[in-house]
Amino acid sequence: MSRRRTNRPAPAAVPAAPEACPCGLPARYAECCGRLHRGEAAASTAEQLMRSRFSAFAVHDEPYLLRSWHPDTRPDAVDFDPGMRWERLEIVGTGEGGPFHQEGTVEFRAHYREGGHAGVLHENSRFRRHQGAWVYLDGVVDAG
Ligand SMILES: [Zn+2]
Repeated sequence: MSRRRTNRPAPAAVPAAPEACPCGLPARYAECCGRLHRGEAAASTAEQLMRSRFSAFAVHDEPYLLRSWHPDTRPDAVDFDPGMRWERLEIVGTGEGGPFHQEGTVEFRAHYREGGHAGVLHENSRFRRHQGAWVYLDGVVDAG
């Protein structure tokens, strides 16, 4: 996910840290993606990095999003849309991206709510190792 706006909206209040992890795994945020966001753990698979990045969008963790982005494609900043709430992540499929791979893909559906309407972002993301760590490279949004 790489939503960017040219006209930056006013910064919104950061959502409170959720109890249940936004990434969809049956775990508490603090012990799931929260550990990656705090730098206490690293993603061992591309899917785990994808989940942690979805959670970072949900909790507006810009530093984590930037450091888990490949330097070749990393934006200067992440603009969180204050009217948008990322609610649920569905992993559709993965290709490679395992502990012994250098590249991987994750197809996902990210469900959000915006202005009372529910929407879904369907994307195929590419991940790559950078200095040993999984990072997000880019993604192709499926309009269908
Ligand atoms: Zn999680």
